[in-house]
Amino acid sequence: MREEIINTKNTALAQIMDAVAEEELERLRIEYLGRNGKINNLLSRIKELDPSERKNLGSLINESKKTIEDAIKQRINEFTSKSISGSEWFDLSIPGILPRIGNLHAQTKVLTKILDIFSFLGYRIADGPEIEKDYYNFEILNFPKDHPARDAQQTMFFDTTGTKNKPGELIPRTHTSAMQGRIMEKTKPPFRVVVPGRCFRYEQVDASHGVDFWQVEGFAVDEDIRFTDLLGTIDFVLRELFGQGVKIRFATTFFPFVEPGVDTYISCTACNGKGCGFCKRSGWSEVMPAGMIHPNVLNACKIDSEKWRGFAFAIGLSRAVCLKYQIDDIRILYNPDIRILKQY
Ligand SMILES: [Zn+2]
Repeated sequence: MREEIINTKNTALAQIMDAVAEEELERLRIEYLGRNGKINNLLSRIKELDPSERKNLGSLINESKKTIEDAIKQRINEFTSKSISGSEWFDLSIPGILPRIGNLHAQTKVLTKILDIFSFLGYRIADGPEIEKDYYNFEILNFPKDHPARDAQQTMFFDTTGTKNKPGELIPRTHTSAMQGRIMEKTKPPFRVVVPGRCFRYEQVDASHGVDFWQVEGFAVDEDIRFTDLLGTIDFVLRELFGQGVKIRFATTFFPFVEPGVDTYISCTACNGKGCGFCKRSGWSEVMPAGMIHPNVLNACKIDSEKWRGFAFAIGLSRAVCLKYQIDDIRILYNPDIRILKQY
């Protein structure tokens, strides 16, 4: 009977090791350890044995029972942990592979920063059409039809053949200043507004010019606004944007819709003021033309220019992005190569 016990145990262990599913282990447990199983069957035959053998064989059967029980438990644990971790064991502490995620375009980052600065200063943000009426792009801004300053705007025109529009009546806007009239006509002063948007000009494409570019127009109208408020605003905004140490220079200039007009330059960040292609070898880059709103513009918008005054400015966004990230060619911003855009 000793051999029979040992054979039963060994057969059971072999079958348990070969089991390929948990259900098979359950079947083996019933076959060997169940009430009518093989182990109980052996135990029930103990009493037939000679009393001198009973004790030894009894404990051998109990040991075999324990061994079979442990083997089944161990295999069940293996199946359970496999079903958690998949078909193969792996190290849960190894860092995962991060999914590829995008990043914001350099221009979006700088635009967000600019809008944050103006929101802090109490400006509201407005949006407007890219295809604009000649009236808002030019006429209301003190550019009469025959005004020579229109030439400086390098306007592009639509082919209106076969449409209801007269030639030149609708144009791709040349500046977001076109929104001044639209907003001032409908809003009672005082107000402060910024208008980010895309503009179009017939320019020779080079390191610092494109046929379409982004501008952030801004204007404020109130009872007691002075020229020094404008200079202070520009100074604050540019230092917030480019760092407190940036060099700023103002120069007088002419735009029909402001009087007086100023051009704002900052020291070129691409060459640190030494002179490069980006700053046309001057060491300075024009970044924020501005001025006091011309009384003719206020009057055209039905705002009493005797009572109200205002200033207006525009930030060349694409150029500001280049200055911020020391990009010496504006065309890089239109490059779709992710490897280039990821650097900013
Ligand atoms: Zn430069």
